[in-house]
Amino acid sequence: MQVHKYDVVIVGAGGAGMRAAIESGQRARTAVLTKLYPTRSHTGAAQGGMCAALANVEEDNWEWHTFDTVKGGDYLVDQDAAEVMAKEAIDAVLDLEKMGLPFNRTPEGRIDQRRFGGHTRDHGKAPVRRSCYAADRTGHMILQTLYQNCVKHNVEFFNEYYVLDMLTVDEEFTVDGVTRIRKRVAGVVSYDLATGELHVFQAKSVVFATGGVGKVYKTTSNAHTLTGDGMGIAFRRGIPLEDMEFFQFHPTGLAGLGILLSEAARGEGAILRNSEGERFMERYAPTIKDLAPRDIVARSMANEVREGRGAGPNKDYVLLDLTHLEPAHIDAKLPDITEFARTYLGVEPYTEPVPVFPTAHYAMGGIPTNIKAEVLQHNDTVVPGLYAAGEVACVSVHGSNRLGTNSLLDINVFGKRAGIAAAEYAVTAEFVEIPDNPLVETERLLDTMRSSEGGERVAQIRQELQDIMDANVQVFRTEQTLKEALEVIDKLEERYTRVTVQDKGKRFNLDLLEAVELGFLLDMAKVMTAAALHRQESRGGHFREDYPERDDENFMTHSMAYKDPSATETSGVRLETKPVVFTRYQPMERKY
Ligand SMILES: Cc1cc2nc3c(=O)[nH]c(=O)nc-3n(C[C@H](O)[C@H](O)[C@H](O)COP(=O)(O)OP(=O)(O)OC[C@H]3O[C@@H](n4cnc5c(N)ncnc54)[C@H](O)[C@@H]3O)c2cc1C
Repeated sequence: MQVHKYDVVIVGAGGAGMRAAIESGQRARTAVLTKLYPTRSHTGAAQGGMCAALANVEEDNWEWHTFDTVKGGDYLVDQDAAEVMAKEAIDAVLDLEKMGLPFNRTPEGRIDQRRFGGHTRDHGKAPVRRSCYAADRTGHMILQTLYQNCVKHNVEFFNEYYVLDMLTVDEEFTVDGVTRIRKRVAGVVSYDLATGELHVFQAKSVVFATGGVGKVYKTTSNAHTLTGDGMGIAFRRGIPLEDMEFFQFHPTGLAGLGILLSEAARGEGAILRNSEGERFMERYAPTIKDLAPRDIVARSMANEVREGRGAGPNKDYVLLDLTHLEPAHIDAKLPDITEFARTYLGVEPYTEPVPVFPTAHYAMGGIPTNIKAEVLQHNDTVVPGLYAAGEVACVSVHGSNRLGTNSLLDINVFGKRAGIAAAEYAVTAEFVEIPDNPLVETERLLDTMRSSEGGERVAQIRQELQDIMDANVQVFRTEQTLKEALEVIDKLEERYTRVTVQDKGKRFNLDLLEAVELGFLLDMAKVMTAAALHRQESRGGHFREDYPERDDENFMTHSMAYKDPSATETSGVRLETKPVVFTRYQPMERKY
């Protein structure tokens, strides 16, 4: 066993992890552990933009942005966090500009801005230009810029190191004269892909920035690597997961494939049509139409298909029409995504509408944090030394539905906050002693899979999991579909204990790691489904056909899912609640 010692260990080298590393690296001895080479992280696939009320092209301000974020999230947003994000957005964009990011420019040389769903002028009056962008490769530019700046600041990277476990100790603490127990972080355990060796990283602070969990679904915009590892590790170690029932389906995935066509297309003027050529969003969101938030557009599309107005031979998709836009405009603003339509569907967007259907896209839920990016063990109990930021975290700025371009913003604002807070904590804190036998859990996990002769295959179980999630935990849900899904997941979990890995070697054993990742996917699918079953209302991205209304009286609360084997009714997931933070906005009916 090799042991390393750092003040701060950051797990994940996407946008959130590297933004944190730039801050932490300048203040404390920092290591970044990442299962992917940093510039392969999913942030690099982000297309459309990152929003900030710069008011470069039209009037705007951070308060409108906060309001849009709160309303977009169907009032489940913690309003203190949304305020922080909207205010700090401006510096977040300017920081990137100073680091060298090549944003698109206006003719006057300012950072250009475009429209995106749910971002409006003066509390919903009309769409506003708030998204800063670099063609339709904004995430790519952010990731490259952050990586270069990490290199500049001598951040140490451990590439292709898979973190598989977190080490914690229990400690007593006293509030209001009552003594309670909380966790404190001591480090992480990671697996070096090249050698198959396990390494312990002892750290005063650990930042989780491991991204999302889209691979629980079959039809998804997410990379193969988004398997919810960070959420899974935290959950297994007794940290709750917040608001996991809220998963975003992005309206415009390429039909049948799920590959994303950015909302920037609609921001630049593209229109959704049904088989009759009707611009159907006019019926669902009369004011902002195709630029309504994603939950509303995705449901409207699914509804058009259900009611028989889908296009194509099987009437199972709708059409994204860009044919009225100038080809030169398309080439300048949307080069990559129009190329995707040509390559993967053989459709020419200049002259033909593109078949699209909702695709699983983004986890609104995750590891609960406060606005300092500190992880919460219970509603207000912080785990000293533990931080989370980015898609793995739930701070919660997205509530029950994220607005487009708010995630690239979230990773920059809260990535930076996490990096600063983790380093500042590490400067004064002492190392926590590594528990005895730190590898015991990880070795047990790996040994079972290496030695199992049970004959179950990873690919088969994963496919069955994705099939049931696509069928039953989708845009529309009911108690029946969710209960069925839980039963299937339970059976898959049981089969997972007999999973057999064919590669028994030590070097570059991706076969083994895929099996480990499948374990996280199973855990997260279970949490998402159990939380969806528990929430008997419809809000944002979570639509229960058996409870079609929002129910503020009973469900204006975050859900907190804990691992608890005694909760047998819900497959070992215990659900509690946490109050939503309100500052200036009272819930209203959500109309666009
Ligand atoms: C196709 C697509 C387009 C998008 N477009 C936009 C957009 O235009 N605007 C917007 O705001 N949002 C967009 N999003 C969402 C946004 O890109 C993501 O939510 C965000 O980039 C996530 O960043 P992150 O740093 O949290 O995670 P990621 O960038 O996914 O990085 C995760 C990191 O964690 C590491 N990791 C994971 N597990 C482990 C482990 N076990 N051990 C070690 N390391 C691990 C990985 O190696 C990786 O470095 C888009 C998403 C997709 C999929």
